[in-house]
Amino acid sequence: MPDILIGNGTIVTLGSDNQLIEQGAVLVQGSRIAAIGSAAALRQQYSDAQYVDASGGLIMPGFLCTHTHFYSAFARGMAIPGEPPRNFPEILERLWWRLDKLLTLEDTRVSAEIFLADAIRHGTTCVVDHHAGPNAVDGSLDVIAGAVEQAGMRACLAYEVSDRDGPAVSEAGIRENERFIRALRAERRQQAEAGMIAASYGLHASFTLSPAILERCAAGGADAGVGFHIHVAEDISDENDSVTRYGMRVADRLEANHILGPRSIAAHCVHVNSGEMSRLAETHTNSVHNPRSNMNNAVGRAPVEEMVQAGINVGLGNDGFSMNMMQEMKAAYLLHKLALGDPRVMPGDLVLNMAFQHNARIINAIFSPFSSDFPPVGQLSVGAAADLVVLDYLPPTPLSSGNFPWHLIFGMDGQHVNSTMVAGRWLMRDRQLLTLDEARIHARARELSRALWQKL
Ligand SMILES: [Zn+2]
Repeated sequence: MPDILIGNGTIVTLGSDNQLIEQGAVLVQGSRIAAIGSAAALRQQYSDAQYVDASGGLIMPGFLCTHTHFYSAFARGMAIPGEPPRNFPEILERLWWRLDKLLTLEDTRVSAEIFLADAIRHGTTCVVDHHAGPNAVDGSLDVIAGAVEQAGMRACLAYEVSDRDGPAVSEAGIRENERFIRALRAERRQQAEAGMIAASYGLHASFTLSPAILERCAAGGADAGVGFHIHVAEDISDENDSVTRYGMRVADRLEANHILGPRSIAAHCVHVNSGEMSRLAETHTNSVHNPRSNMNNAVGRAPVEEMVQAGINVGLGNDGFSMNMMQEMKAAYLLHKLALGDPRVMPGDLVLNMAFQHNARIINAIFSPFSSDFPPVGQLSVGAAADLVVLDYLPPTPLSSGNFPWHLIFGMDGQHVNSTMVAGRWLMRDRQLLTLDEARIHARARELSRALWQKL
């Protein structure tokens, strides 16, 4: 692969040494960033590199998403028969647990392709997925991994083990996680070592996991050297279930069962109390905030700032919403202000840190067991992953590294993403997807989703 020099842009590096470089350039060698600086100097120094003109736009790190569900793709525009669900348990029973039972392996693959194309289009370069499909469990993670490989994205995959569909399905879920993790150290070793694919051990949520299954999974995850990816206290019903059946709150129950830890993701944490926050902090467990989903399901406001103050690493996910992470950032910025009646809460720089620094910490923890030299993501720096985006954003007011979060929240959006690169390879140039055929994917998805809707 020839070196690529992307110049004539304003570089926003993010990372701990966040800088804004006007008339800058980024040199990409192989899958990593080799130099960052003034475009004039780098053009002279690397005259052999293939030059790409960013047309005065922004060059910044790719967006990251640490909790999503590719399998939810066919729910877009789908009507749920009967009265609208009144609460979160009804939403699960009447929407998600009906849809996931109908998914075939082909539905799973096409659903993943929809999300991956959407991610590339909106500049999202690494995704952490959580899959369910109780009647097509075996091989499902391979099918998704195939789509990820085709797309050229980085992704961490997991199958959510649950008791809700009976013992045969929970056994299949355990088998699928453990088989896929083994494959990442055998036949998929090259892809995993390159930092393109990783796995965590998926678990649905405390209220659908019996003590026996939780124990099995804890042992399986520990043997495999991976963390867990589980929904935690998304709705108050999860806490009520755990307290009633086990006499413990959700995070306490998970800690007692060895599910928490620095490679584990506790998605949502809307209803955790201060004791649970201490458990999460002590075990260095990551939390992931999903504001659009929380608002849509009316489950409540996650105590994000309290968790951050307690020392918990809180990232940002989309829980199956569009892969436009700028929309998720805007939602995070607005939700807490309205809910608390205080315009000072959830400042823009905290939102930016969740989306980049905190998400990068999660991704690093998850990918490093599979990739001995996993590069930094979520920042542009020498040696970091060449995972970057070029945006056609011409700021109408002064832009600095300090006010960048507020430009992003108030002025930038997915439509500004012009080009997306992952591991030194362009996945989109001038808004043309280069690895996936979006029209073909959407056409097939319309056929498959129509058939699936008819079965509901
Ligand atoms: Zn979720």
